[in-house]
Amino acid sequence: MVESGLPTPPGSDNVAKPSGAPGGFKVIDWAGFAGAVSYSFDDSNSSQIQNFETLNGLGVPFTFYLQTGKNESNDPVWQRALDAGHELGNHTQRHSSEDDGSDTDAATRFIESKFNIKVYTMAAPNGSPTYTNLAKTRFMINRGVANALIAPNDSTDPFTLPSYIPPQNASASVMNEQVTSARSAKRWRTFCIHGFNGGSDQAYQPIPLQAFVDHVNHVKGLGDVWIDSILNVGAYWLGQKAVSSGTNMKNGDETTITWRLPEHFPTGKYVRVTVTGGTLKQNGVALPWNPHGYYEMALDPKSVTLSP
Ligand SMILES: [Zn+2]
Repeated sequence: MVESGLPTPPGSDNVAKPSGAPGGFKVIDWAGFAGAVSYSFDDSNSSQIQNFETLNGLGVPFTFYLQTGKNESNDPVWQRALDAGHELGNHTQRHSSEDDGSDTDAATRFIESKFNIKVYTMAAPNGSPTYTNLAKTRFMINRGVANALIAPNDSTDPFTLPSYIPPQNASASVMNEQVTSARSAKRWRTFCIHGFNGGSDQAYQPIPLQAFVDHVNHVKGLGDVWIDSILNVGAYWLGQKAVSSGTNMKNGDETTITWRLPEHFPTGKYVRVTVTGGTLKQNGVALPWNPHGYYEMALDPKSVTLSP
């Protein structure tokens, strides 16, 4: 379905619509993929700009966390990134480990006025814990720098979202292992990359561009890993949690599930759901069965009804 913006998962496109008893409502993990990975790039570094065409040519959405006080944040490449479907996020204006909120807000103003978008996620400069609380009143997610896997419906803090920083000169196989382990655990791994060898602004722990290209092509080749921005995978992860912890109300043979969405959650997001049978309706309209094996359910109505 084009409407949901979610990519099509691997597997059969001829799955029969469930015809059993109404029930068994659940959100499927990672939109039907085995696991998920998000690649984020910090600091508006020169080597990201120099190599943008190669990165963009990989054909998967990335997240670029702009440090808006750097002149590089004025480069026209970021508008191209946005137009190509990448996410632009907040990495503050000055990149300090201390902030009363004003520096974070300056970066938001820069991005929102320059690109006419809303900013939903940030990355904490230096992974500073200062931003965990600041982000709660401003964003859906704050990406940190400590590596861990994120599981469906788990209690990972979205305001210190874990991330893996590849070691300097990381090989493709070192990065492949981080995704292979996420995939086998059916979880989400995020990457925090500062730049590539050859930049002019001392990116932290730069990696070879070719190693990254080889790595992403390897992950694409696995076929069942969802590669998308922090915003898109994060909204699915948090949306699933919201629905899974929603309220079930029975009225005759009808069950209505209602949920609340987190603060600073984007509109227009979807999750994929299954049932054992019955008809799912939102705003009185039956959801069409998708023969890839799910219904696509909008999160904005904050309600769905299952009836015979
Ligand atoms: Zn940074």
